[in-house]
Amino acid sequence: MSNETELVQELGAALSANAILTDSDVVESYRRDWSMDPDAGRPLAVVRARTEDDVRAVMRFASAHRIPVVPRGAGSSVIGGSTAVDGAITLSVEHLDDLVIDPETMTAVVGPGVINAELSTAAAERGMFYPPNPTSSDFCSIGGNVATDSGGPNGCKYGSTADYVVNLRVVLADGSVAEFGGPMPKATTGLPLMKLFIGAEGTLGVITRITLRLLPQPAEHRTVAAFFATREAAFDACADIAKAMRPSEIAVMDRPALDVAEQHLHMGLDDDTAAVLFGYSDADTGAAGEAALMEKICRRHGADDVFVTDDPSEGAMISRPREGVFDALEGRRALIVEDFAVPPGQISDLITAAYRIGDEMGQQILTYAYPVDGVVHPIILFDPADGESAGRAFGTRSRLLAAVEEMGGGLAAEYGIGADKRAAVEKTLDDAAKTLQRRTKAVFDPLGILNPRALVTTASHD
Ligand SMILES: Cc1cc2nc3c(=O)[nH]c(=O)nc-3n(C[C@H](O)[C@H](O)[C@H](O)COP(=O)(O)OP(=O)(O)OC[C@H]3O[C@@H](n4cnc5c(N)ncnc54)[C@H](O)[C@@H]3O)c2cc1C
Repeated sequence: MSNETELVQELGAALSANAILTDSDVVESYRRDWSMDPDAGRPLAVVRARTEDDVRAVMRFASAHRIPVVPRGAGSSVIGGSTAVDGAITLSVEHLDDLVIDPETMTAVVGPGVINAELSTAAAERGMFYPPNPTSSDFCSIGGNVATDSGGPNGCKYGSTADYVVNLRVVLADGSVAEFGGPMPKATTGLPLMKLFIGAEGTLGVITRITLRLLPQPAEHRTVAAFFATREAAFDACADIAKAMRPSEIAVMDRPALDVAEQHLHMGLDDDTAAVLFGYSDADTGAAGEAALMEKICRRHGADDVFVTDDPSEGAMISRPREGVFDALEGRRALIVEDFAVPPGQISDLITAAYRIGDEMGQQILTYAYPVDGVVHPIILFDPADGESAGRAFGTRSRLLAAVEEMGGGLAAEYGIGADKRAAVEKTLDDAAKTLQRRTKAVFDPLGILNPRALVTTASHD
């Protein structure tokens, strides 16, 4: 019997029945996340934990044998955060999916495997609201959201996942369990260690239970869609809207993205439209006023047409291009979804640079932006069957990263750092910050076994 077989048997014996997956097709399906890394590792084993005890057993085993562990939620990371590592254990928590809502305290206690949209729906059915709404909400998990501090289009008003976490239960690198945070948002419990795990990308521990605060469900909604003849005018209007209010969401799509949506939806989009601004208000007593002000500002910036509605189904109809882009791209996983943060005044310049780089590289690029938070997502499409096309796409990405760095922008906005951006982002940290990151990692994970490719480099990477 090989050493590997013995290790897998020893691990399997410590776990619930069927928790260890050995079928080669199944193991293959856990090697990659949405970054589709062609060099994804081959794990020693994939474990789909059934209970927190399974997670503890994996970490005890991994510590004893110094085997790395990659925690995994739904695998929607676009930066290689949950990509498998050679010889490691990929630890999926997707089956830890209990969901209990307490209307009295307005909190939800969830397993990390609960899908974001399922929590939002369950909260809405009880008249409550869970705000963080990443665009991947239909298929990403709350554990992954906490581990990357996910935000979404409504982040300009509602912040990110960190703003809703009240308590975390975490399995540490040696298999012990710790709880961080109090029972309620205002309960103080010493050093704010809980916050370290939010955005740590599985490098400090495995999250096994999360308590989240919920808000009352907003009753009023307005949707605004404003059509502009130039992209710059749409961004200028956004900048003025941001100075006047915090809409619940504001997004800009420009022509290349609109064209993809148009091919899918056949909306009859006007040839003169260069960009559409989508604005939303859910301010209970002030939604009508906010929508009217958004309309006024858009018209002042030359919007050709502005539609405003309080009817949710009409609102969904005029917002269709936003979903349409993703519907059109669905199933086409050969795309790189990038994620940058620049000051709102530089967004248009960044998009211009992205298209120039795309032209120079012979590469199709689309972008969409959440201007109030300065977030820009270029999407680079390629043909996975064509090595040259893939090479060009990854080359385009490197040039985009360099362009953002040159502009002084953030190389990661809301999707995390993962494996793909670790070296690039680390260049932006000063030595003191780098040392503290490494020391902090060593306190929680002295053997360096937790998600070793992601987020933090250790001394062994020098
Ligand atoms: C089309 C598309 C749109 C997207 N839009 C957004 C967006 O609007 N906003 C946004 O923030 N992100 C977005 N993302 C990125 C991604 O969906 C988020 O980062 C999401 O939070 C990842 O959740 P997941 O369950 O898929 O995690 P995974 O991909 O499985 O893991 C992500 C990271 O979290 C760690 N992790 C997962 N579960 C745990 C756990 N229980 N304990 C410890 N660590 C854990 C992993 O090790 C990894 O480092 C998008 C992705 C796609 C493909």
